[in-house]
Amino acid sequence: MVNIPMGRFVYADNAATTRISEPVFQSMVPFLTEQYGNASSLYGLGRDSRRAIEKAREKTANALGAEAREIFFTSCGSESDNWAIKSTALAMSHKGKKHIVTTAFEHHAVLHTCQTLEGQGFEVTYLPIEPNGIVSVEKVEKAIRPDTALVTVMYANNEIGTIQPIPEVGKLCREKGVVFHTDAVQAVGAVPIDVKAQNIDLLSLSAHKFHGPKGVGALYIRKGLVIPNFVDGGGQERGRRAGTENNAYIVGLGTAIELACASMEEKNAKVSAMRDRLIRELLKIPCTRLNGDPVKRLPGNVNISFEGVEGESLLLMLDSKGICGSSGSACTSGSLDPSHVLLSIGLKHEVAHGSLRLSLSDMNSEEDVDYILEQLPPIVQRLRDMSPIWEKIQREA
Ligand SMILES: *Cc1c(COP(=O)(O)O)cnc(C)c1O
Repeated sequence: MVNIPMGRFVYADNAATTRISEPVFQSMVPFLTEQYGNASSLYGLGRDSRRAIEKAREKTANALGAEAREIFFTSCGSESDNWAIKSTALAMSHKGKKHIVTTAFEHHAVLHTCQTLEGQGFEVTYLPIEPNGIVSVEKVEKAIRPDTALVTVMYANNEIGTIQPIPEVGKLCREKGVVFHTDAVQAVGAVPIDVKAQNIDLLSLSAHKFHGPKGVGALYIRKGLVIPNFVDGGGQERGRRAGTENNAYIVGLGTAIELACASMEEKNAKVSAMRDRLIRELLKIPCTRLNGDPVKRLPGNVNISFEGVEGESLLLMLDSKGICGSSGSACTSGSLDPSHVLLSIGLKHEVAHGSLRLSLSDMNSEEDVDYILEQLPPIVQRLRDMSPIWEKIQREA
């Protein structure tokens, strides 16, 4: 049974996933009902599906400054990351290049993929992150070696929202002749992206992070870059990624990416104003800190550590008030290891444990912010009153 909340409900976990918007849903419905043709079939019903998929491919390409034939649909952001990294590694290993440069605070879809490759004889450099949550371009430059096969740096971090110097890293990699991949799953629809101007060779995205459906993503592969196919089988996605296309979801991705990019500036102005009010007000609570750069951050990302508070308890108490947030990333909540992202920017374990991520989208309102600001501070106070270490923290502050 679906747990439908009674009373006030505020969804502030848009970095974990977003709600499908009404126009996206409406664009998908025909392809879940009467428009069920296999896009590879030659009759009209199939051709209509093919046309809709190619339209979605054009919309995706337009959003990235790419060409339609450089866009390959996948089942999710994680698949796009796996394809980009594993296939580039394989292709480059034939040229004797078995070194990968990445960062310590990538999403697990990148980190665990790199770890798998380490088990297959690749060497991986995990670059440290500066205290403001940004990777240093000089450190990327120093890490590149003659045998470097790939540099993979995320566009924006999913936990602390920091936006990375992607055009600079792209320029550097192009100059050095190294393939450059970016996991842009959090950035698409929030940051202007131009794969040509920014010298990006491979870019991953996922529809459910910008009000599209879950279970569909895309990988941009710069034309001229030859990497192995990811799924062998039929001729779908120009033979690169086999499997009968998920027409409805691909169409939904196309609608969602077009809408997300069309109104980006206006939407960002609204969302970042809500973000800044939350940050400003929450930092008035003593013994708190903002994680990640205050300016170079995603418009919807708030990440704050409350000393003397257990993040999991905070989430449960917020949930009881109808507020959805996250501590660390959704994948790690439920485990007791502090977030690798927060550790990478130098937080102590106990401070990392008391962190809260609230991620807003254009579906949030100022009333949502009012409600969070009404409910959250007393919850923090209550948890601190119960905490055995809070008195000690206050004495030392
Ligand atoms: C959500 C996310 C992913 C994974 O995307 P899925 O479509 O859920 O597989 C990868 N990278 C980042 C930065 C993300 O935020």
